[in-house]
Amino acid sequence: MKRAVRQAKNGSGLEKMIRRLVKRHKGPLMLISREALRQQFERFRRHLPNVAPYYAIKANPDPEIIKAFVKLGAGFDVASANEMNLVLDLGADPKKIIFANTIKSSEDIAFAYKKKVKFMTFDNEPELYKIARHCPGARVLVRIKVDNHGSTVELSLKFGADPDQAIFLLKKAKSLGLRPAGVAFHVGSQCVNVDNYLQALDVSSVIFNEAKKIGLQLDTLDIGGGFPIRHFDDDDHLTFKDIARQVRKKMRRLFDKQTNFIAEPGRFFAGPAGTLVTQVVGRTFRNNRNYYYLNDGVYGDFSGIVFDHCRYEFKTMRRGQKFISTLAGPTCDSFDTIALNVDLPELDVGNVVYVKNIGAYSSASAVPGFNGFPPARVLLV
Ligand SMILES: *Cc1c(COP(=O)(O)O)cnc(C)c1O
Repeated sequence: MKRAVRQAKNGSGLEKMIRRLVKRHKGPLMLISREALRQQFERFRRHLPNVAPYYAIKANPDPEIIKAFVKLGAGFDVASANEMNLVLDLGADPKKIIFANTIKSSEDIAFAYKKKVKFMTFDNEPELYKIARHCPGARVLVRIKVDNHGSTVELSLKFGADPDQAIFLLKKAKSLGLRPAGVAFHVGSQCVNVDNYLQALDVSSVIFNEAKKIGLQLDTLDIGGGFPIRHFDDDDHLTFKDIARQVRKKMRRLFDKQTNFIAEPGRFFAGPAGTLVTQVVGRTFRNNRNYYYLNDGVYGDFSGIVFDHCRYEFKTMRRGQKFISTLAGPTCDSFDTIALNVDLPELDVGNVVYVKNIGAYSSASAVPGFNGFPPARVLLV
């Protein structure tokens, strides 16, 4: 195990490991590095020491990943009773779970109550009535709509109350017997625009101050997810470290020392741990270029191309001249095209194409079994 981990750190070591694993296993493989999970967790703790991370399991709900984060002491962000059940079964502490879907069914809220998960977000009044009825006394955070400009995935189009409604909603929560604890926001996923975080912190602090004036003592700020990772070796966007430095500074300036800060990293925790290893199952020459058909596609572990608007760096273990190529998935659907124009060396049937940093929003949103093609086998390395 240790050796595999050490090898995974440098490219050629990783390729040695891939060679070994594809000899042993048929079909596509999703390698999940336990060491990378730990590293991302520690990186988060190091750069945002006053922020408690709640892993958003929608990024990758693989039980081994959840178990690893239970062990590391993370909390969890869940969006449904099923997700809640999953993390609880794997040992999560109900006190370290946030039910962070602002629209929850009454049944799911009642389930949370039964499981002693009494911490949730909301962004509208009807939701408050449901929570008050099915989870009396719950601690609630009002999720506000914030700017998602420059983030790859928009998360404020469907959720978030207008900030000027926040106080009114928090007061209403209190009048219904709930515990209005604070504010939550999400700046959009893969957010490389630090201003989204900084503005959201400004807006939140205004709400905290207003609340104080009317005798509502808010104590929790949930800064959501969105922390970016590198998908290409030469990406030069802001790193997590840059963002964390500015966020830390601003939090110190705007909020009381006693404020509890939490966050809901998904991609940042799971993305870097995953390496997808596929193989060429067929090749042809059409439209004046090489077409390679892989054993995984957009219905499988490349689903992030569709749902996550993600672009990946495709690597091979062949060297030499590169030609403009198209990569397609294995299903009989033309939509199952992974990349139209990508520079690749000449590949043969059986050759490997692999992608690093693809642990989040990949297998999680796949349609396993479409057209009879199984998703990648998950291997912990
Ligand atoms: C998806 C989601 C997250 C995780 O977002 P990342 O960008 O992957 O960090 C966190 N919180 C909520 C409410 C979400 O919907």
